[in-house]
Amino acid sequence: MSFLSIKSLKKKYYLGKIAIHALKGIDLIINKGDFAAIMGPSGSGKSTLLNLIGCLDYPSGGEIPLQDSLLNANVINEKKLNQIGFIFQTFNLIPVLNVYENIELPLIIRNDISSNDKKERINYLIDRVGLSGHIKHKPSELSGGQQQRVAIARALVSRPEIILADEPTANLDSETGIEIIELMYQINQKEKTTFIFSTHDSKIVKRASNVFLLRDGLISERAAI
Ligand code: ADP
Repeated sequence: MSFLSIKSLKKKYYLGKIAIHALKGIDLIINKGDFAAIMGPSGSGKSTLLNLIGCLDYPSGGEIPLQDSLLNANVINEKKLNQIGFIFQTFNLIPVLNVYENIELPLIIRNDISSNDKKERINYLIDRVGLSGHIKHKPSELSGGQQQRVAIARALVSRPEIILADEPTANLDSETGIEIIELMYQINQKEKTTFIFSTHDSKIVKRASNVFLLRDGLISERAAI
């Protein structure tokens, strides 16, 4: 059975009275453990698609099972939301918190995890993303690549089943971008976390298990790499 089966997914935005058809009917299947890339030029609908998968917005039509199970009468089930981790192109770290505290953030409200387990998870992830020497550093003291490593650890700390990464390398030079993709790939292989990331850079999709090409709100082609 597929992990995430999206059918005829549509999203309309309104600018005044003008409708923008950002997604015009997307069919997509993601399997557990996939390292899936959504590619396409700027404006093709990548962020819209990821936002819908991540339940950050409502679709205008079609089926998206995760939304159906997560959003019940507009009540978001917090426990289920922990199944999804987010990585953004602008890292979105909290500037006044250090590396440890940024990664700790999603766990602060979790009373189902003991404080020792929290510490263990955070320290394991800091080591996993190669930042053991930077625990006390604030985001402004880190390079872009290091900040994205913090964001990856923060996304993983809830042990989600899916990580959604919206253009995670867009603000990095291409060498650092490849390192970040490589790190996400290693985590995908070892922890079996499903990754769905968007990009417009063909160089970084070499590791992808499946690639979906978006153009003008439609999947224009599927490519197996
Ligand atoms: P991508 O991530 O591939 O750059 P987006 O999903 O951001 O594409 O955008 C797809 C289309 O939807 C674009 O035409 C964009 O201008 C439009 N769009 C995105 N978000 C909004 C919004 N909140 N309101 C109106 N139009 C939007």
